[in-house]
Amino acid sequence: MKLIRFGKPGQEKPGVELESGQRLDVSSYVTDFNEDFFADNGIEKLKEWLATGDAETPIINDLERLGCPVDKPSKIVCVGLNYAKHAEESGMPVPEEPVLFFKATTAITGPFDNVMLPKNSKKSDWEVELAVVIGKKASYVAKNEAMDHVAGYVLHNDISEREYQLERQGQWVKGKSCDTFAPLGPYLVPREEVPNPHNLDLWLKLNGETMQSSNTSDLVFNIPQLVSYISEFMTMLPGDVISTGTPFGVGLGLTPPKYLRVGDVMELGIDKLGVSKQNVVAFSK
Ligand code: ZN
Repeated sequence: MKLIRFGKPGQEKPGVELESGQRLDVSSYVTDFNEDFFADNGIEKLKEWLATGDAETPIINDLERLGCPVDKPSKIVCVGLNYAKHAEESGMPVPEEPVLFFKATTAITGPFDNVMLPKNSKKSDWEVELAVVIGKKASYVAKNEAMDHVAGYVLHNDISEREYQLERQGQWVKGKSCDTFAPLGPYLVPREEVPNPHNLDLWLKLNGETMQSSNTSDLVFNIPQLVSYISEFMTMLPGDVISTGTPFGVGLGLTPPKYLRVGDVMELGIDKLGVSKQNVVAFSK
């Protein structure tokens, strides 16, 4: 069972996608997949409710749009340079401790929505990433207990404006937070359904050409290390997102570098976490 949110932007309703591919509207049972839902052991309770057989779950026949499968996470914490070959292509050393940065939650968009280039952007870039969704409040969590705090996983394209990120001084957040820069989805896969998140292929194609192709076994810092580490610096709330970093093959690392243009199409995927696809469009208000 995977969690989806469907409907127009800002009006999404919660649903599930079953093993068969059938999608059910579960909005009669749960308000939304938000902090309260995850904090209340929502995934487990939802499964039990669905198993009762008399649950009122209309089938979603015409799915007009998928949204991000988590409603309003309080934060998106991203990990930089967490694949050795990506650190190399970025011209930076593999870090001794995780490099962290924030991405504004207003950047969140649906997995098949358009990605909009910011005004005057010349260096917008792609980054396929495994993102972790927190299920239980995490503060000073030990590594060996960290996975208990994970609700599940979701595919993320950590779109990045390299000029804003690296040439405009200060923190990376400027290049990571533009509207539509965080396509998340198609769905949240509960932790139990991904027994080993550290052996998943991940890839990204630009206009049909493979740009990134790697495996999460190459992560420098793994998921329990990241959850534990981040929880030393801030409290992670249920529903919060940790994006674990991108592998080799971003536009910045090419010779010459290659950046997104209007009309480009990005397709990306991770084993077990599905695929997403975004068209690149010009800025508009
Ligand atoms: Zn990233």
